[in-house]
Amino acid sequence: MAAVQTGTCLCGDCSFTARPKADAGVCHCAMCRKWSGGIYISVESETPLEFAAGAPIRIYPSSEWGERLFCGHCGSSLAWRTRDGAATHVSIQCFADPAQFNLTQQIYIDCKPGNYALANTTQTMTEAEVLAMVMPTEGNA
Ligand SMILES: [Zn+2]
Ligand SMILES: [Zn+2]
Repeated sequence: MAAVQTGTCLCGDCSFTARPKADAGVCHCAMCRKWSGGIYISVESETPLEFAAGAPIRIYPSSEWGERLFCGHCGSSLAWRTRDGAATHVSIQCFADPAQFNLTQQIYIDCKPGNYALANTTQTMTEAEVLAMVMPTEGNA
C-alpha cells in the first residue's frame, strides 16, 4: 500500500492524510477547469481522506456520481470523489512535493481548450472513452 502523506489547502485550515498512488492524471473537462481555475492534476488515494478535526471542508455535488471537496475558508480545490466514496482523486498541489508523481494520463482530451497543450507524453482518453469505461461500474452508483 502507498505511504501516508499529508495534504493541505492554501490557508492550512484543511489538513488531511491520504495514500496517493504513484501516477497522476489531468482532467480537461469543463467542470474540473472551472472548479480548479486551471488544469486539474490529481492522483488517486488508496484510502478515503481523513481530515483534521475542525477542518472547514465543503462539498459540492457536481454530478450524479461525483462531488468536489474544497476549503470553506480559502477556497482551494482539494479532491474529486465518487459520491459513494469508492474513489478519491486528490489535487497533487495539496502535497508538499507535487513533482513526485508521474503524469501519465490526460482524460477528456477533446474538451481541452486549444490554446495550450502539455509537452508530457501521456495516455489520452476522450470524454466518450472515459464514460464508456466508468459507466458499466459506476453509472448506477
Ligand atoms: Zn484553506
Ligand atoms: Zn474533470
